[in-house]
Amino acid sequence: MTTASATTFQYPRSSIDTQAYWDATRRGELLYQRCADCDSSIFHPRVMCPYCMSDKVGWQTSAGRGKVYSFTVQYVPLRRDVPTRLPLVLGIIEMDEGYHMFSEIDETDITKVMVGVPVQVYFDAVADDLSLPKFRLLASRESLS
Ligand SMILES: [Zn+2]
Repeated sequence: MTTASATTFQYPRSSIDTQAYWDATRRGELLYQRCADCDSSIFHPRVMCPYCMSDKVGWQTSAGRGKVYSFTVQYVPLRRDVPTRLPLVLGIIEMDEGYHMFSEIDETDITKVMVGVPVQVYFDAVADDLSLPKFRLLASRESLS
């Protein structure tokens, strides 16, 4: 028999590689990196370009717009002791600047979520020192046809 333990959330932790990114999310800005040598967009934050291994990576501010690249719908909470709004839509966003990021797609009507739907980032202050980038739909299914 198991007993319920104290709830401990595993929020993302900043590191020397990601501190600027998390500082920006608290200001309501979404950052990504661009390689000065091969001009690739880079996400998640790191010290070297994963495409050409250059260390000339610099921060850029994203407009925060993209399209749903892929998604899944979660109907069952991961933990029974943590309140979770369900269904929860999680997806990969193809950003206009050419990188992809994993995030929550905040839409209660899951029939509106489909591949290719335009989305816009917003920032959810889940703790005093942490804002998570999440996305909302910009258009309905009908506007894509
Ligand atoms: Zn590069």
